[in-house]
Amino acid sequence: MRMRPTLTWTPGTDLPPGTTDPEPVADALRTGGVLVLSGAGISTESGIPDYRGEGGSLSRHTPMTYQDFTGSPEARRRYWARSHLGWRTFGRARPNAGHRSVAAFARHGLLTGVITQNVDGLHQAAGSEDVVELHGSLDRVVCLSCGVLSARRELARRLEEANPGFSPVAAGINPDGDADLTDAQVGDFRVLPCTVCGGILKPDVVFFGENVPPGRVEHCRELVREASSLLVLGSSLTVMSGLRFVRQAAGAGKPVLIVNRDATRGDRLAVTRIALPLGPALTRVAEGLGVTVEDAATA
Ligand SMILES: [Zn+2]
Repeated sequence: MRMRPTLTWTPGTDLPPGTTDPEPVADALRTGGVLVLSGAGISTESGIPDYRGEGGSLSRHTPMTYQDFTGSPEARRRYWARSHLGWRTFGRARPNAGHRSVAAFARHGLLTGVITQNVDGLHQAAGSEDVVELHGSLDRVVCLSCGVLSARRELARRLEEANPGFSPVAAGINPDGDADLTDAQVGDFRVLPCTVCGGILKPDVVFFGENVPPGRVEHCRELVREASSLLVLGSSLTVMSGLRFVRQAAGAGKPVLIVNRDATRGDRLAVTRIALPLGPALTRVAEGLGVTVEDAATA
């Protein structure tokens, strides 16, 4: 994922229209060997809005870039205040029927793997194992000096202590865990250093302007090579980090199926795009396959 401008991609008017028939997804799952690639759209039913928002208008959110973050203490203060607030919201989010369906498909041996562009941990919370987190996870924090990884929940606890009374109301929340706050709301939020070396802490997620680690990309390419088909769930494929796997699969003659409300950058490479909400669509597919999706209370 590189550079903000890719976020401003808007769909062309000559794209093939989406359908409302999820049967091709059921067919692919019956065949087996399906690799899932999921994006922000699978988490919207859990209360985490995606970047494009309802109706497809681009939100006004400008993601923090790696260069901004490392470039100034003020940028880091803004980021950590917003991200700390976002973390509280993410902490309350629960997996929805879409995440639970994916976990059920895997349990029944219908998937070869799950790659997610999301940093919210909801696939794992629904019971999916061996999920490849393409853009990292908000659950972990990395020190930019000594490289030590630590638990976000521990840093969150320290930040609560260091910032008593910090409770602004955000104008919005974004899938990267970044809340919308004004500079006045950020105020004099205190940022904390690495407890080992005093270095700069950053969430262990891939920022805009930063590359996905090459080893992780290669692992995903291998998963695409092993798969029979690629099932894209809730991603507009705006950034290259996900789109490249669609290109790889299509280039190898493997069917690409997309379930996404709006047009995506991969539509031309897909055998179908199903324009249905993910939870209901995947629940229907699961029912057709006789796969039991655990309910919210047990997942
Ligand atoms: Zn350190």
